[in-house]
Amino acid sequence: MKLDVSSIKNSIGASIKINLKASLEPINFYGSKLTFEEPLHLQGEAINTGESILIKANIKTNYKTECSRCNKPIQKILEIEFCEEFHPSSSSLNYDVNIFEGDEIKLDKVVIGNIILNIPMKILCSYDCKGLCHICGKDLNSGKCNCENRETDSRFAVLKDLFTVQDTDKEV
Ligand SMILES: [Zn+2]
Ligand SMILES: [Zn+2]
Repeated sequence: MKLDVSSIKNSIGASIKINLKASLEPINFYGSKLTFEEPLHLQGEAINTGESILIKANIKTNYKTECSRCNKPIQKILEIEFCEEFHPSSSSLNYDVNIFEGDEIKLDKVVIGNIILNIPMKILCSYDCKGLCHICGKDLNSGKCNCENRETDSRFAVLKDLFTVQDTDKEV
């Protein structure tokens, strides 16, 4: 994803429209693999502010992955606005700023960075996804399994402890 800024880089206040399409490689993110089947669409504007080239743009894409709880395949639409400044490499020694060399601004790092910032750590098929049973592996969205019956009821556990204490008292 490259933007040719040769027409604006020497005139302060000049701007160009951005309208780019690019395909993205899969991203591995907190154990989830995100794949992008359609090209990403980047639309916006690049402005020469005098000190830098300011890019204001909108990223539109969608990704496929699996639900973090139940592993169901899901597809999510992502639309992000971002605003980033790029300085000519000759003008800045600060490593924290985005730089560009010559007539081209490479946008990949900023675009992927903004996508990652806007993806939740746990991607769910729905906000109340019940996930899989950790014992039998059943998808609990499609109904309960029988494993729950085997869990001890904590209220009874407390009562049992009380009785044990009383018994001990009698013995003393
Ligand atoms: Zn799910
Ligand atoms: Zn189960």
